[in-house]
Amino acid sequence: MIAIRGRVQGVGFRPFVYRLATRLGLAGSVGNRPGSVIIDVEGTIAALDAFIDEMTRAAPPLARIEALEVTQRPPRGEGSFRIEPSEDAHAAGGLPVAADVATCDDCLRELADPEDRRYQYPFIACASCGPRLTILERTPFDRERTTMARFTMCPACRAEYEAPHDRRFHAQITSCPACGPRLSLRDAEGRLTAADAIPAAAAALRAGRLVAVKGLGGYHVACDAGHHEAVVELRRRKHRDAQPLALMVRDLDAAAALAELTPEERALLRSPRRPIVLARAREGAGISPAVAPGVRALGLMLPYTPLHVMLLDATGGPLVMTSGNRSSEPIARDDAEALARLGGVADLFLGHDRPIRTRCDDSVARVVAGVPVVTRRSRGFAPEPLPLPVPCVEPTLALGGQLKVTLALGCGGEAFLSPHVGDLDDVATYHAYRDAIAQIEALLGVSPTVLVRDAHPDYVSTRLAQERARDEGIEVVVVQHHHAHMASCMAEHGLDEPVLGVTFDGTGFGLDGTVWGGEFLAGDLRSFRRAAHLRPVPMPGSDRAVREPWRMALSHLHDAGAADAAERLVGGVPGSSLRLVRQMLDRRVQAPLTSSMGRLFDAIAALCGVRHATTYEGQAAVELEALADGLAPRGYPFRLEDGDPVVIDTRPLIRAIVHDVAGGVDPAAVARRFHTTVVDLIEAACVRLRERTGVDAVVLSGGVFGNVLVSESAVLRLTAARFRVYCNRFVPCNDGGLSLGQLAVAAARRQAEQQRKITMCLNAPGRVVEE
Ligand code: ZN
Ligand code: ZN
Ligand code: FE
Repeated sequence: MIAIRGRVQGVGFRPFVYRLATRLGLAGSVGNRPGSVIIDVEGTIAALDAFIDEMTRAAPPLARIEALEVTQRPPRGEGSFRIEPSEDAHAAGGLPVAADVATCDDCLRELADPEDRRYQYPFIACASCGPRLTILERTPFDRERTTMARFTMCPACRAEYEAPHDRRFHAQITSCPACGPRLSLRDAEGRLTAADAIPAAAAALRAGRLVAVKGLGGYHVACDAGHHEAVVELRRRKHRDAQPLALMVRDLDAAAALAELTPEERALLRSPRRPIVLARAREGAGISPAVAPGVRALGLMLPYTPLHVMLLDATGGPLVMTSGNRSSEPIARDDAEALARLGGVADLFLGHDRPIRTRCDDSVARVVAGVPVVTRRSRGFAPEPLPLPVPCVEPTLALGGQLKVTLALGCGGEAFLSPHVGDLDDVATYHAYRDAIAQIEALLGVSPTVLVRDAHPDYVSTRLAQERARDEGIEVVVVQHHHAHMASCMAEHGLDEPVLGVTFDGTGFGLDGTVWGGEFLAGDLRSFRRAAHLRPVPMPGSDRAVREPWRMALSHLHDAGAADAAERLVGGVPGSSLRLVRQMLDRRVQAPLTSSMGRLFDAIAALCGVRHATTYEGQAAVELEALADGLAPRGYPFRLEDGDPVVIDTRPLIRAIVHDVAGGVDPAAVARRFHTTVVDLIEAACVRLRERTGVDAVVLSGGVFGNVLVSESAVLRLTAARFRVYCNRFVPCNDGGLSLGQLAVAAARRQAEQQRKITMCLNAPGRVVEE
C-alpha cells in the first residue's frame, strides 16, 4: 500500500495514477482519504519500482507530493486497476484542497477550434484547470460535493469522464454546451436582455457602459480602460476616488504595451495562479488617466476563465476589472446579491448558473529583486497550506487583525490560509468574515480548540474571539501585532531561532497601550522584547490623523521644535483646523502617542506637498514612493539614543527636511533622501542590536515593506553588513499575513508549555503535575 500526502486531490492525481498503473500492467485501486491518496497496487517488483519512480517524476503539473509511505502487504490477487469513489472525509480533517487554476493551454486550443464540440464554450475545463476551492461545498473534491452537482453529465461528457486516456478522465468539472452551466446577460432590474450574451456585453463595454462579470470567486465590475468617461463613472458609482484599478488584458503582448515587463513579471502574469501583477506603467499607453492616478505601478492580469478569454477577444481589451463591491464591502458572490448590491453600479450583469461557494478576490503580487512577492493572497493560492515551523498540538484558528483580514487554521504541521476577507470596519465584511470562518472549518472538517487574536481590545476579531471562547469554553491566545508580523515571516522561512524583527507598519496595539508601528523586536516565535523604536509623537485626533497626513506633519514639526514653520509647510489647511490641532498638541488631548513608521511616511508626504488627505489606506506613503522613484546617495540625519529600548530620534530628520522644503529643494529629491534615511536607520539600529544581542538574523515585515524602494535596498544593505535577511514572499507583509504569524506564535508557545510540563513530571517522578 502506498500513502501519498501533499496536494494530490482535485488536481487529476487519481486518474494519473490509474493511467500509469494500467500502462505498467499493475492491478489494485486508488482512492482519496482525508489528507492523502491511498494506492493499493500489486505486480512484479520491477513494475512496482517503475510505478513509484514515474509517479514521483511525472505527476500532474498541479500536484505536489510531500510524503510517500510504502507498506508491504500480501497480494490480494486483483485482476485490474480501478478508481475508488471517495469516502466522506468530512470529520477527519487535514485535507489539502487545491486552489482555483486558470484555463490551461489544451482547453484554450479547444475553445478556439471550430471543430471541437466545446468551441467557444465559456465553461471549458479539464483535470488540469478550472475552478476548485470556489465551487467546493465540502471535501473531498468530487462532483457531488461541488456546485457542479446540479449539472448532470450528458453521455458524451460521461464517456470522456470514464475514459482512462482522456484528459477529462475523472475531471469533476467536465461539462459541455449540452449539459453544463449557461451564460446570461441581464439588465440592472434582473431581466434577460440578449440571447448572445458575450457579443452584447462586449458591445456595451465598448460603448462605455459598466458590466458586472461573474468570475471564479465573485463578481467584477468591468469597463473599457480606454474610455475615460466610463472609468470616471465607475469610480463615482463605486465611491472609489483614487485607489488604483486593476486591468485585464488579452495576452502578454497587450500587457507589455501598457507596462515595462521583466521576464519574471511575464512568468508571474502567465502562471496558472494568474494574480494581478503590479508592474511599472508605460507613459502614454492609451488608457484613461483615472485608472491609476498618482502611482507608477499598474495592476495587470491575464484572463483566467474561458468567459474572460471570450470577453477579451470580443472587446479587444484592456478592461478595468475591479472587484464587484461598493467601496469596502466584500466582493459580491451570488447572483441575487450581485444584483442587489451592484444594481446602482453596473448597467448589465454577465453571469451564469454555476454558483460560487467560496468568495475569493483576485490575488495581487509583484516582483521584488527578481522574486515574486504576494501582497494579497487569495484566488489561485487559497487555501493551499504553508508548513508551520512548530506544529500545532491542537487544531488552532488564528483570526487576523482588523484590516485586510485573513484566517489561518492550523492542523498539525500545516497552516491553511483563507482567501482575503477584507476590512472588518464594514458590517457586510463582518458577515463575510463569519462565513469565511465557518467555511474553512467545514472544508477541513476541523473545529478549533484554540483561538488566536490580536492584542487590540477593540478589534472586531478580538470581540469575536472572546465571545466564541466564552460560548464554547475554548482557549484564546493573544499575540501582539508586531510579534505576529515578525512571526509571519519566520514561519515562511521555517525559522525557529532568535531574530531581530524589523516591523514597520501604520498601526498596531503596543504592550504599553500606545500605538506602535516603527518597531525593532528581539525575540523568537514564543516571546519578544521591544529592542528599539521610533521616537513616539502624538497623533492629533487619533484616527483622523490617519486620514489627514497634515496632522502628522504638524505633530512632527511640533516635536522637532519647528512648529513656527507649520503655516508655510502645510499650506492649504484652513487656519481654524490648524489652530485646533495645535491645541491638541499643546494640551495633549485626543492625541495618543505613536511610534509608527507609516505615520512618519504620512508626515513627510504632507511636508513634500504630496497630499493632505487620503481616501485609501497608505495612499500618502504610496504616492511618496512614486514621487521618489529612486533613492538618494545620502540620507538625512537622525540619532540613536543609547537606552533600552533604543529610541530613534527623528527630530534631526524633520529639521533637515524643513530646511530643504523652505529652501525650495525639489520635493522628489526630499522624498528620495527620506527613503534613504529609512534604510539608514534600519541598518544603524540592526547593527546596534547585533552588538547587544549577538543575533544576526533579521526579519523584515509589516505593511511599510510593501514599499519596494525600502525593502529592496534594506535587503541589500543588511546583507552587505553580514546579516541574514528574510522578507515575506508567500503571505503579505501587510496585515493580510498576521493570521499566519499569530498561528506560528500560538503553536510554538503551546509546544513550549507541553515541554515544560514534561520536564516537571520528569523532575518529580510519581507526581502528576497540573498547571
Ligand atoms: Zn484545461
Ligand atoms: Zn456534456
Ligand atoms: Fe500591521
